Amino acid sequence: MNNRPLILKGNIVIRNEDKYIIGKIIKNKNVFDKEKYIQVLDDENIDLFEKGYKGYIFDNKPKNIDLNKINYCSHVKDYQSLLDFDVVEIVNNKTIRVLYRDDSEDNAIVVTNQCNSNCIMCPDSDAVRNTKENPDIKKLLEQIRCIPDDTKHITITGGEPGLLKENLLKLLEECKRYLPNTEFLILTNGRVFSNTDFTNKLEESIPNNTRIAIPIYADNEDMHDEITRVKGSFRQAVVGIKKLIEKNIDVEIRVVVLKKNYKYLEKIANFIVKELPEVKMVNIMALEMTGNAYKNREQVWINFGEVKEYLYKACITIIKSGIITNLYNFPLCNLDERLYSVAHRSITDYKIRYKEKCEECRAKENCGGFFNSTINVKDIEVKPIK
Ligand code: SF4
Repeated sequence: MNNRPLILKGNIVIRNEDKYIIGKIIKNKNVFDKEKYIQVLDDENIDLFEKGYKGYIFDNKPKNIDLNKINYCSHVKDYQSLLDFDVVEIVNNKTIRVLYRDDSEDNAIVVTNQCNSNCIMCPDSDAVRNTKENPDIKKLLEQIRCIPDDTKHITITGGEPGLLKENLLKLLEECKRYLPNTEFLILTNGRVFSNTDFTNKLEESIPNNTRIAIPIYADNEDMHDEITRVKGSFRQAVVGIKKLIEKNIDVEIRVVVLKKNYKYLEKIANFIVKELPEVKMVNIMALEMTGNAYKNREQVWINFGEVKEYLYKACITIIKSGIITNLYNFPLCNLDERLYSVAHRSITDYKIRYKEKCEECRAKENCGGFFNSTINVKDIEVKPIK
């Protein structure tokens, strides 16, 4: 489990006009292209100090270094947790925020916290959605340029990335240029791709190894739009998916299972097989009970046991059609065992939890467990596999 802190605090002095810097970490050594790096020096290695880095993180304030012209931090609790090639943003007088963890295969670029839908089971809250503090495009581009070019996977997410419009295209162009070997997953509600002009431009900008994941919550607009709480969102998402497929862009459909749609899973499966057979894969996902999902829990939560049979029928329909099918966020013992082979350990490493009884289970290593937000939902039962 990756428990490294993502926010660090200390004495922080950033002198440039923007009052922030974004750079790559290098610890107790020197590199040639210093202008991209933030040098971390503990007291024993302070002799390695060289001028020219974007910034510095010192153990304590060094006495023999002129601090008047450099960006630096000192007395930062947990600074030892930073690793070479992590990417951080340091904001004057505030925080060091880890934007990219070099030891993780689960890194994301969060491009906005706002969204043009308002799904009843969104794991973010209205408060998060309504904060106007979005990262600006200049920062996002800088972040991309700092990510090591051997990184395997990056998820581009929000909020709704489509809200960035032309800036999303710029961002993707930068990804294509600086990270040609990386595979990208874009998490979006897909509505922006119903705009032909935008999708035409996207075709030029998008990195080769990109998959776009779009949720479909129903086989009809009434139910889907009731869940997203935006009229027309189903039509836009379906048209968007079709346009992306026309452009040979890989699409993944995500079906989130909730109280409103679990009885219709087979219908949703049939809709996908009939209307969108060229999608690369379908991932069916259990809820994360934070944000709106928690607030609307009476309306959205459905016990895994109730879902089991409907889920099996839906999966078999999609599998039989030849579309790759995966299950995310479902504990194994709550699934029909014929679906074990398509169930994945999908919960982000630091959010996974297990029940006490799980210790007796011989499938624990292969089981994705629970979100910290779902483990205490009252009607969850586990049946250790012996
Ligand atoms: S008992 Fe726990 S570890 Fe075993 S399958 Fe169920 S949830 Fe997973």
